[in-house]
Amino acid sequence: MTDRLSFHGNIVLPDRILPNGLVVTRRGRIIEVSQRTPDPEDGPVVKSGNGFIAPGYIDIHVHGGDGADFMDGTPEAARIAADAHLKRGTTTIFPTTTTGRAKEIHAMIRACQSVGDRVPGIHLYGPYFAEHKAGCHKKSGRRNPTAKEYESYFATGFVKIATCAAELPGALDFYRAAKRAKCLITCGHSDASWPEMAAAFEAGMRHVDHFWCAMSSVPSVRARLGTPMRGSMAEFVLANPEMSTEVIADGQHLAPELLEFAFKMKGAQRLLLVTDANRALGMPPGEYIFGPKRAGTKFMSDGKVGYVPNQGLASSVIPLSEAVRVMHRDTSATIPEAIRMASLTQAERTGLARNRGSIATGKRADILVLNRRLEVRQVYLEGRRLN
Ligand SMILES: [Zn+2]
Ligand SMILES: [Zn+2]
Repeated sequence: MTDRLSFHGNIVLPDRILPNGLVVTRRGRIIEVSQRTPDPEDGPVVKSGNGFIAPGYIDIHVHGGDGADFMDGTPEAARIAADAHLKRGTTTIFPTTTTGRAKEIHAMIRACQSVGDRVPGIHLYGPYFAEHKAGCHKKSGRRNPTAKEYESYFATGFVKIATCAAELPGALDFYRAAKRAKCLITCGHSDASWPEMAAAFEAGMRHVDHFWCAMSSVPSVRARLGTPMRGSMAEFVLANPEMSTEVIADGQHLAPELLEFAFKMKGAQRLLLVTDANRALGMPPGEYIFGPKRAGTKFMSDGKVGYVPNQGLASSVIPLSEAVRVMHRDTSATIPEAIRMASLTQAERTGLARNRGSIATGKRADILVLNRRLEVRQVYLEGRRLN
């Protein structure tokens, strides 16, 4: 009897594909990555054939799936939404808040804590958005940051990513508190100018949510602050090599040239693929609620994307595995680069890279078997097969 399980074939490493590669796992951990054929001591062998063995994906911006939104605030909803992504290849997930009441956000945090360690923490996204940049989030649920409120979230120890619009009063104190809580700090749903971004950077901000969506541009900053024209969030992110950002590569939010531009400018170590998926993922076209079931906003899904009629898009309905396929299809990103942008880059930015994010000795055996079109065929969570 053996407690080993191995994977053989084209292994996707962060910087290349290892043909005739072997990944040996034991009790949920990777104990060997090498180039050889398996022998009987390596235990049962899963073969990739002409497909690939890849690390499990990590999503840092995701609201729900299979009918549930994390903001529904119940353990059942949190499990349904996390499972919707797990079975499609996302083995680590950071459930993401919308705008809403403090009570709803606390219920969401508690619910997500019950799922298990594939949820290492949450992304505190709403409610600290700029007034006119709420997007599909409920406007009445947005507000400026106050220490009493956000310290109550950080005190749970379960907030790992923290968003606030940089121009809001109190934003810098929020960033400093998020830094003490060891969060990846991000600016989003914001109309911030370059000087506001520079101050935010000084306070610890290092990331911008969904590039080009609900963020400032030179014209929007001019409309807000007048002339001389100033730099916006876009210029600040593109000019600063420390800053990372993310794209929703669902083929609906951004045209191929923008995906390619973002990849060219930031590279695979600073550009993250996110789904920003809502509860309509895996569900038939129709009307759904974004955010908490009883108090969120209505949107439509046509099966390809979420949208609010006459208003705009309302987040995606795809899993991260689909974003990897679109990124590889629509840009010059190689397979290892497209997959890195859905795994190791997230792990590095959120402090998880010691244990997750790539196929490397000592890390968790969170492993995907992909076919040659990069479609997920099998998912292994800590060495256990799921589907
Ligand atoms: Zn958003
Ligand atoms: Zn979102």
